[in-house]
Amino acid sequence: MALRFYNTLTQQVEPFAPLHDNTVRMYTCGPTVYNFVHIGNFRTFTFQDILRRWLRARGYKLDHVMNITDVEDKIIRNAAAEHKSLPEYTEKYTQAFLEDSAALRLERPERMVKATDHIKEMVHAIEELDQRGYTYRSDGSVYYRISKFPEYGKLSHNDFSGIRAGARVDSDEYDKADARDFVLWKAPKNDEPFWESEIGPGRPGWHIECSVMAMKYLGETLDIHAGGVDLIFPHHENEIAQSEAITQKPFSRFWLHSEFLNVEAQKMSKSAGNFYTLRDLLGMGYTPEAVRYLLASVPYRKKLNFTFDGLKAAATTIERLRNFKLRLETDKYPDGDNEQIAERTRSAKRRFEESLDDDLNTAEALAALFEFVRDLNTAMDSAEFPAGNVTAALEFLDEFDSIFDVLRPSRKETGISDSEVEGLIAERAAAKQNRDFARSDQIRAQLLEAGIILEDTKEGTRWKRKT
Ligand code: AMP
Ligand code: ZN
Repeated sequence: MALRFYNTLTQQVEPFAPLHDNTVRMYTCGPTVYNFVHIGNFRTFTFQDILRRWLRARGYKLDHVMNITDVEDKIIRNAAAEHKSLPEYTEKYTQAFLEDSAALRLERPERMVKATDHIKEMVHAIEELDQRGYTYRSDGSVYYRISKFPEYGKLSHNDFSGIRAGARVDSDEYDKADARDFVLWKAPKNDEPFWESEIGPGRPGWHIECSVMAMKYLGETLDIHAGGVDLIFPHHENEIAQSEAITQKPFSRFWLHSEFLNVEAQKMSKSAGNFYTLRDLLGMGYTPEAVRYLLASVPYRKKLNFTFDGLKAAATTIERLRNFKLRLETDKYPDGDNEQIAERTRSAKRRFEESLDDDLNTAEALAALFEFVRDLNTAMDSAEFPAGNVTAALEFLDEFDSIFDVLRPSRKETGISDSEVEGLIAERAAAKQNRDFARSDQIRAQLLEAGIILEDTKEGTRWKRKT
């Protein structure tokens, strides 16, 4: 079966292909840069990274836009408390987000765009909504009249038809019980920062930012729009109302939403205070790969309960997979080919791919890999694994790693020098001679951790640095 995704809009799993040519036009809501991003947010961004990588593995090109929300209620509040301008305040957290994303090996979207660079376009969009009769003014602010858009509620599958016209909400975030006309342009209050514009002084609401940036770069109809489930209402519902009122066309064909990372059954969030940043976890000695693996291992539509046991288990799994790869790369195997093992490798690869095609079922894809690793280790232990099967097994591991990206150890700050490598190799040879295999294995693992691969040959041990 072909690639398919669960679409929040239709509440069905549907086959996916882009609308135009071979390029997937995708928009994902990026972070609000008012603080360090926590690993709950990174669960959503990691899901989007797996999505990107799998779309590419399936032969598509990507045009992926991610926004940085750098003007918003919380940012304004925090910047004012620190007596900083908006750009001064947001720059630090934008940089931190980019660094953390890189540490987690999240591919950089083709375009990362800032809300404050698009104020003009937002004003134009609001004017257009105004001309079409979707807006009204109150106290200098401009609101969207949701009763003008009969399809309001089609994404969150709520019936808002009985809503009281004219009731308004100014805050960017609110819940279903508060569904009211939402703000497009906010008149300045007190000393809040604002922009002068044709529609008066003010600043954009959060929702108009995304509609405008998505359509500017990707056109009127996107292939995929994604975010966490908390964005379905009101944010994405409002994006649809704005964009479709302007274009009269479907705003996005597919809507993909990832479930929460929870801590003790509660959403990890800044406001609940139950959050960890990536920096917190690295400071405790966990690796970015372990965090990445943990976040990717649970299918994106299932809740993920964060525990330190889970994080430790992720680290152990990565270690096991690295050891398996090392064993394939460096052990000596008898000549020949084993057709059964070749078929075992093909079937694991098939199951891995079919699982990811099935709405990115990462847990099932990993199960296919683990069973394969277990079976091959068993064959190796009983000397039934021939050299002719190594290449296909390594290719499958590479395919796995092109999506999950956890096998390469993160570079340590201090690289290991050539002479240190030689010294450890000599020590390992001596340990082997003394039949101290525990020590020799330990040295091999230590070198691998430092990115050094050993190969034992008749002429002695050769080594190379991992690229
Ligand atoms: P924000 O910076 O709050 O706009 O959030 C950035 C992204 O993280 C959005 O797509 C949110 O839906 C997502 N998000 C926030 N909290 C969590 C969580 N605990 N688990 C998963 N995703 C989350
Ligand atoms: Zn958005």
